[in-house]
Amino acid sequence: MTGGTLSGNKVRKLEFLFADAIDQGCKHVCTVGGIQSNHCRAVAVAARQLGLVPHLLLHTNATSPSDIGCDGNVLLNRMCGARMYIVPRPSPYITEMRPRQERLAEIIKQQTGESTYLIPVGGSNKEGLFGYISVFQELQTQGVLENFDDIVFTCGSGGTAAGLSIANYLTGSTLRCHGFVVCEDDVYFYNHIQETLEDVGLPHVNARDIVDIVTGYKGKGYSISADEELSFITDVSIQSGILLDPTYTGKAAFGMVQELSSNPGRFKGDRILFLHTGGVFGLFDGRMNSLLKTTYSETDNIKMWPVKTCDPS
Ligand SMILES: *Cc1c(COP(=O)(O)O)cnc(C)c1O
Repeated sequence: MTGGTLSGNKVRKLEFLFADAIDQGCKHVCTVGGIQSNHCRAVAVAARQLGLVPHLLLHTNATSPSDIGCDGNVLLNRMCGARMYIVPRPSPYITEMRPRQERLAEIIKQQTGESTYLIPVGGSNKEGLFGYISVFQELQTQGVLENFDDIVFTCGSGGTAAGLSIANYLTGSTLRCHGFVVCEDDVYFYNHIQETLEDVGLPHVNARDIVDIVTGYKGKGYSISADEELSFITDVSIQSGILLDPTYTGKAAFGMVQELSSNPGRFKGDRILFLHTGGVFGLFDGRMNSLLKTTYSETDNIKMWPVKTCDPS
């Protein structure tokens, strides 16, 4: 339970990253992500809660400020007065985004004399890592983990995967960890986790031994949805009242269900914990609308009932 507008997994990492920012006396914070990034929205909200100014570098194909609209996470960014900078995509972090973050920090310093804290994509570095180490600890102390054999989660920038699998390793590897990728590929995530292991002094541990990175369910690409994925999301909400999002948890849960029937041996047991990492505002970016109005009759369950003495039609 991470509250309304901060909802999701990024706030776990931000707890540690913002502590570091405040420790360093920064008055501004700058991060990067896709236009509908949950991470960027969580940074915007948390920054305002703590009295810092949020700066977001957002990659999108938009060619003018008016193109980015006002939907989903963008609405919340606007309501927090986040300073948004539109960057063409694709824009790799190290070569394209990090240099812009550094340049922006220089400009802010020149103009205001104030320092800017730079947060990498997804908040997935060694400070952010502790967010998901502490999630694992909560699952353990609340007695949740003992009821499960496997834990399944989404991989977007790899911080959730790194935190959970390193915590699981450090506490005796009782569970098997499976990260379902929604962008990049398995090599990218194994490398990210390996680098994190090295950053925290565990270079002798092999990332491939502590986590199973599952590919094949990215679908049409990062943040692009197929109708079958959107229908799956609606099936889940109709059956359970649980809302998955189209970019992250929807794809991972869809992949998990397929993998459970095509490749059950991949899992250690049949008690599987799917970790819901948030993302609800992604449902409001317009992608769901076409499906809800046309192809999916269960959600088009609306009848007119103007006169009380007649039946609805
Ligand atoms: C960012 C995000 C993820 C992926 O987590 P990482 O730690 O970046 O791999 C999963 N689900 C949601 C809803 C997210 O916003």
